[in-house]
Parts: sequence; C-alpha cells; structure tokens
Amino acid sequence: MQIMHGLQCALQSALQERQVRSLMSQVVRSPKTYDVCVVGSGAGGGMAAKVLTEGGLNVVLLEAGPPLNPDVDYKEHVWAYELPHRGAGIGGNAIKPGNGLENEFLAPTGAWTIEGEPYTVAADSKFRWFRSRIVGGRTNHWGRIALRFAPVDFRSKTRDGLGEDWPISYEDIAPYYDKVEGYIGVFGTKENIPSAPDGIFQPPPKPRCSEVIVKRGCDKVGIPCIPSRMAILTEALNGRPACHYCGQCGRGCRRASNFSSSQVLIPPAQRTGRLTLITGAMARELLVGADGKAAGVSYVDKASRSEKRVHAKAVVLAASACESARLLLNSKSSLFPDGLANSSGMVGRNLMDSVGSDGEGYFPQMEKIPPHNHDGVGGMHVYVPWWKYDRQNDFPRGYHIEMGGGREMPGVGMFHDLCDDEEGYGVSLKQTCRKMYGCFMGFSGRGEMIPNADSYCDIDPDVVDKWGIPVLRFHFKWSDHELKMAKDMQETFRAITEAAGGTYVTRSRPGDNPYGIADGGVIIHEVGTARMGTDPATSVLNGYCQAHDVKNLFVVDGAGLVTNPDKNPTLTILALSWRASDHLLDQARKGNL
Ligand SMILES: Cc1cc2nc3c(=O)[nH]c(=O)nc-3n(C[C@H](O)[C@H](O)[C@H](O)COP(=O)(O)OP(=O)(O)OC[C@H]3O[C@@H](n4cnc5c(N)ncnc54)[C@H](O)[C@@H]3O)c2cc1C
Ligand code: SF4
Repeated sequence: MQIMHGLQCALQSALQERQVRSLMSQVVRSPKTYDVCVVGSGAGGGMAAKVLTEGGLNVVLLEAGPPLNPDVDYKEHVWAYELPHRGAGIGGNAIKPGNGLENEFLAPTGAWTIEGEPYTVAADSKFRWFRSRIVGGRTNHWGRIALRFAPVDFRSKTRDGLGEDWPISYEDIAPYYDKVEGYIGVFGTKENIPSAPDGIFQPPPKPRCSEVIVKRGCDKVGIPCIPSRMAILTEALNGRPACHYCGQCGRGCRRASNFSSSQVLIPPAQRTGRLTLITGAMARELLVGADGKAAGVSYVDKASRSEKRVHAKAVVLAASACESARLLLNSKSSLFPDGLANSSGMVGRNLMDSVGSDGEGYFPQMEKIPPHNHDGVGGMHVYVPWWKYDRQNDFPRGYHIEMGGGREMPGVGMFHDLCDDEEGYGVSLKQTCRKMYGCFMGFSGRGEMIPNADSYCDIDPDVVDKWGIPVLRFHFKWSDHELKMAKDMQETFRAITEAAGGTYVTRSRPGDNPYGIADGGVIIHEVGTARMGTDPATSVLNGYCQAHDVKNLFVVDGAGLVTNPDKNPTLTILALSWRASDHLLDQARKGNL
C-alpha cells in the first residue's frame, strides 16, 4: 500500500514537473553580469545588499515575494472591526491551536503554510516551518528581541565536549555587533552578565506594572530580571522616529521605529543606484561554471511562470537557513553530484531550533489595580537572561525567559481559553473576563539545542512545489538534553509565579509534548544547515560564511551558525552577514573571487 502511494506521488510529481518545465521552455538569460547576486532580502540578504552596494558593487537581489508598501501592508493601527474576520481569519483559523501567528493583523505574507509551496516531514518527526515571501522576509514579523551571543557560546564544545566550536571567536564578531546595534538601534542596559554581553544600547522603556510584579518574584528567588534588549528605537536614529508605544510591532511599524530589513536595509541599498531588486523571483538552483565557481542563479519569474537566469561574479545565499540548504542540495551538477558546496555532506545537517516551553501565571493582585497606561513597545520591557552559567545543571548550556501579558491590547483569541475554563455565559462570563483581564503573565523559555544526527533536512525525492522545484523534507528529534531543559523551565516559571504571589496555571495534559516542549521549528529559530568550521570535511563554510568548495559563494542567513545558544539568532545573522560582506568586498578588490 505504502509502495503504491509512493509510486503515485512520484508519478504525480514527475507530471507536475514536466508541466511546469513546458511552461518554462524558454529560458531568458540576462545579458548583464552583475558583481554579486544575492538571494533573499531578509536579515542576512538585506544586510549583504546594503554593505555590498555601499561598498561599490553592482548587486542583483532576487526576492521570491512581492514588494512591500508599509502604508498599505502594515496594520499597526487597524481595529478588529475593520478586518473581515475581526482578525481571526477564515473559519477562525488563528484561534486554532498553534496558529496564533496567522491572525489578520500580522505583517503580510508570513505563514506556516504557503499555497503551492509545501514541505514534508518524515514519518517519525514533528517539524513546522514558518516562512515569509515578501521584501524583508521574516524581519517584518520578528519579535525584535536582539541578544548578542556570549564569548562562551563560540567555545562551548571546549567547555562540555558537545557539538562543535565555532571557527571564529566573540572578539571577531564583537565589532560587528557594535556596528549593527549602532545602525539598527537596540535598547537595553549595561549589566555585566557573562552569559548576556552588553552592547551599544539606547535607553530602555520602564517596566510595566505587571512586569514589576514578576520582577519582584524573581528578586525573591534570586533570578535576575533586567531590561530587555530589543531592536526598537526609544530615540530617533538616522531619520527614523522613536517608538510611540502603540505596542503592535508584530503588525509592522509604518514609521520604521522598529527594525525590518525592508525599511532599514533595502532603502539605503537602493539609494546607491547599484541595486537591482527583482521581486517575484523564486530561485530554483545555482549555476556553476566549468571552473567550478558559482556563475549565477536560475529562477522562476512568478508573474510569467518563465525560467530566467542572472549571471554574477559572486553569489550570496540568504533565503533563510533551510531554503538556502534546499537551493544548495537542488544545485546538482557533474562537478557537484551531491549538491553545491556539499563535499562534506553537511548541507542540511545540524538543523537546530531553540528549545521552547511556555507557561502562564495568574496574579490576583492585578484584579484590584485601577485602569492604567500599559503602553509600550510591541513586546516585553524586561526579561530573564541565563543565570545558572556558573553551576552544574541537569542539562548542558542554558536558556533565557521572555515574558508578556498584563493589560495589553486584547488580541485575537485572548479570552478563548478563559471561556473554555470558566462556567457561565452572557453577563456573568463578561464580568469574569473583565475581572481577569490583565491578571495573566506568560513565560517563554528559549534555550539551546545540541545538534544531533536525527535532526536535518534533505530533498524529498517524491514531491515538487508548484514551480517544479523539489521540496525539503524535515527530520527532527529532541534529545534528553532538551527535555531536561524544558522541565527546568517549567519548574522555574512556577517558582517565579508563586514567589510573586500568583498561581501557576499551566498543566501538562496527556498527549502533550513532555514539559510543554514545542515541536521543532515552532520557535522559528531554525539554523545550522550549512555550518561554518575550520575543517572542510566536517563543515560547509569558513569563518567568513564563504563556501569551502566554491570560493565565490557565501551563505549569510542562519545556515552558517555552528551552535544555537539561548539567544535569538537574528542579531548574530545581521552581524555575520555584515562581516561576510566586508570580506567579500575585500576579496573582490584583490581579485580573489
Ligand atoms: C513571529 C516571529 C518572531 C520572531 N522573533 C524573533 C526575535 O524576537 N528575535 C530573533 O532574533 N529572531 C526572531 N525571529 C526569527 C527571525 O525572523 C529570523 O531569524 C530572521 O528573519 C532570519 O533571517 P534570514 O535572512 O535568514 O531569513 P528571512 O528573514 O526569512 O528572509 C528570507 C528571504 O528570502 C526569500 N526567499 C526564500 N526563498 C527564496 C527563493 N527560493 N528565491 C528567492 N527568495 C527567497 C524570502 O521571501 C525572504 O524574504 C522571529 C520570527 C518570526 C516569524
Ligand atoms: S510599538 Fe513602537 S516600534 Fe512597535 S509598531 Fe508601535 S510605534 Fe512602531
């Protein structure tokens, strides 16, 4: 039965691929050879486009999605009654478990599913892949939490023998963290905590009432709770105004007071006059010359459904960690039969997400607090950095704690659980909602996963997308390390809540993942699929994100990360991309590419 199904899939795919190929029978070649072709305009690609064009190179940027117009596309100040389904989507899609991000307020074209562009998951695995198709990629949607990796994060194998060390040190990347923070604007405070290095910070906003309550609980149990570090302006910077505290960053910020590549990196690249941005351009594979160097990119022009090619002296991949692995694996040739830059067999391997487990506390003292101004940035004003770095724990590495809740603007599905849990309806239910509104605080542990042999992505031999491009298949397993970490997270959330005078309300139910650990991919920090290293036999890139096998090929998204410490990855992607682009400029000037 299974064999029959496989055969059917293969036939269907072959048919689909043939149909698509016949639509694309005329391959259009661009007559021009650019200095660099960048694929993807998110964090990594936007930064590369800016640095390379400002450095004097002519860059063509291929972006699979459409252009972005913040005035039309961002719904920062839209009311629920202005939206077709009050924000909940068709059939209340956003209220279904795990779909909260698909509400109608979110910045456009970020979703768990993209019509006609599937991915598959191996039978014994669970994995979700949140993708975006628009200029700026997922930097339109991200939470703006901007944390530096710590010196120890680059040397963790030396410390505990697990995974690999990075080929670069904190000292190599620190000047680029400085540049990125100074350019995009990050608020925070200097704290001198070894696991959470200080940066170049704007002043932070003050904690909200609900955050003060949680901080008091943290103080009682000896856990540091400090101002958060987010890529949101509290002071004007480079023509961008300071945040006006509408609290809706996830919808996008029309005035660019928070960071997105679409508003902060692409415009300066365009102003150089050296950027050619091609939208609706779905890269399918990289072209390779007879000399074994990257020669350009073949892409599907979505509007005409025709195949086009651009040629360039160097290629920079930044389509997001897994999509870049897909492109490399799909770029097979006689010179590179296992995919481009894959002589090590490491492309797609070492896939990591963050370990995530969430919990919630109820704080009855909030019931009596009079209405007050809860305004602030779109996210937390305080957080808990990793604090147990100086002791032996049950698990390797560490986690930090993010938090949210209190009297924030009611969002899609906010009272859904409450209505499930509380008895009554009509007036009495409304009274209960009013009484309890603002009394909940949520905690999210975000921790480090150790790469393992069961977590990787490869090409599904049986499935292609609507463009005829073979799709990714995910394999994913948490190990005991991560489960023990999630257990510790749950115990800590409870301890903080109870110390702050609250009741911890999260319960694990039969069938739930142990200790609430989120499925792979759900935290949207997937990285590691073309890791850096000093040894070309065990790594894909060198310390400058440059492929060992193909010296004019760079990968500047999260694929190059060797470890995925508890810190969210985007600030590091931005810093590595800037560093790689400086190196590319230098090598281009010397004629070394
Ligand atoms: C809701 C949410 C919250 C998050 N919160 C945080 C946070 O607080 N802190 C943090 O550090 N990180 C956070 N992240 C993760 C962060 O968004 C990513 O780490 C970051 O955007 C990755 O950058 P990237 O350049 O690798 O990829 P992306 O930003 O995904 O950009 C990839 C780009 O490539 C394009 N593309 C893809 N395939 C192709 C193709 N075949 N051809 C051409 N173009 C292609 C896409 O359209 C996209 O524009 C969050 C993500 C989400 C969705
Ligand atoms: S909270 Fe500030 S940065 Fe975020 S969308 Fe509102 S004004 Fe913009």
